[in-house]
Amino acid sequence: MPMLRADSKSGYEYLKHSRSRNFHVVTHSTLTRPPMSSCLILGGGINGLLCALLLRQSGLEVRVLERGAVGRESSWAGAGILSLLPPWDYGMEVNALAQRGRALWPEWAERLRVASGIDPEYRACGMVLLEVAQRDSALAWCMKHGEVALPLAEFPHPRPLSRWERGDSAQGLWLPNVAQARNPRVMRALREAALRVGVSIHEHTPATRLLTLGARVSGVETPNGVFSADSVVVTAGAWTGGLLAEFGDAPAIAPVRGQIMLLKAAPGLLPRIVYRRGHYLVPRADGHILAGSTLEEVGFDKTTTTRARAELLDFAHSVMPALRQAEIVTQWAGLRPGSPGNVPTIGRHPELENLYVNSGHFRYGVTMAPAAGEVLLSAMLGAPCPVDPAPYAWTGQENRLGGDAPQDS
Ligand SMILES: Cc1cc2nc3c(=O)[nH]c(=O)nc-3n(C[C@H](O)[C@H](O)[C@H](O)COP(=O)(O)OP(=O)(O)OC[C@H]3O[C@@H](n4cnc5c(N)ncnc54)[C@H](O)[C@@H]3O)c2cc1C
Repeated sequence: MPMLRADSKSGYEYLKHSRSRNFHVVTHSTLTRPPMSSCLILGGGINGLLCALLLRQSGLEVRVLERGAVGRESSWAGAGILSLLPPWDYGMEVNALAQRGRALWPEWAERLRVASGIDPEYRACGMVLLEVAQRDSALAWCMKHGEVALPLAEFPHPRPLSRWERGDSAQGLWLPNVAQARNPRVMRALREAALRVGVSIHEHTPATRLLTLGARVSGVETPNGVFSADSVVVTAGAWTGGLLAEFGDAPAIAPVRGQIMLLKAAPGLLPRIVYRRGHYLVPRADGHILAGSTLEEVGFDKTTTTRARAELLDFAHSVMPALRQAEIVTQWAGLRPGSPGNVPTIGRHPELENLYVNSGHFRYGVTMAPAAGEVLLSAMLGAPCPVDPAPYAWTGQENRLGGDAPQDS
């Protein structure tokens, strides 16, 4: 595994480059002296790796402990739609993180591409929503909250709607500013960028227990020995609750399985994301089309099912009949870190002074990741935080919001 020094060309020189492009990153120049100099990150999904990168760029020595290989769980399995589905179905806590995340994503994608040499395939392809319930109130919500939205009947040329999209135009909406990224590429780029700035990644090293001494975590037990650092951040996605179970005030995070079918069509056949009542089609640049997804509470079970296959193919074919001819490439499942109200927990443990969490982003962890990173850095280092961090604080009563994400989204 390549380990590069933090002061190498790709490390701090990259940081300087970041500042000159006015990136939204926390750097030495914007921080008071960090109250800690080393950090252990438990879990190498998008939230773990992105925070590792930010903390390293803030001058900390950072080690990531990952149970398997980094970026192979929910962050790999997701569809990479950078939007809530749809935004008006969610409260302002969820929207605040998602909107901030969306605002940061174009720069993040470019930074990752430059820093890693891997293109995360960020594309502002827009999203058509079919059969929108209460379309007028959805339009009013968009107007109020700065989301550009047009009735499908006013869809701008020269990228005309297909016949199957037009047929539904009375109830449809076009959200031109919705973008996507390609998850496996994002994760490979993050891993490479993190390594290049000197983050140390320990794969196949599960954290099995947190050791405490007084009001601090003194070490993290793994089969490869005990690791210790000034601070510990739990970014273990759906597994976060189990890892923190012995503390009694673990955030309420539980796995919610999602299955996706991958189809292959001619590049350009579907130019934009299409969403209809809980399901979506996401076109990749090379002609692959994702048909997703299911929402299943089946514990830590990543089995794919024939039932989901039928559900997703029915949806794909009914929305876009031309996909009957598309090749079925594969089907997969991932475990979302489900949380009440889709509100993640980001912040310091109520009592242990050096233990932090950044987990429970549920259906929108890719959208939210850059903004969630800012919230975490504000809790750890006192960095400026453009989003009010209060709704995500680790109070020990994370069931407070009640209610799950809407079933039809
Ligand atoms: C089918 C599907 C579709 C989705 N679509 C979208 C979408 O379109 N847009 C969007 O924004 N979001 C989407 N999501 C949600 C998004 O993928 C997740 O919210 C996000 O990936 C969560 O990232 P994470 O880093 O918190 O968790 P994960 O990616 O699950 O990473 C957690 C990591 O922690 C590791 N780990 C666990 N326990 C331990 C331990 N004890 N020690 C060390 N490491 C450990 C795991 O191995 C894993 O690598 C989707 C998810 C799924 C499943």
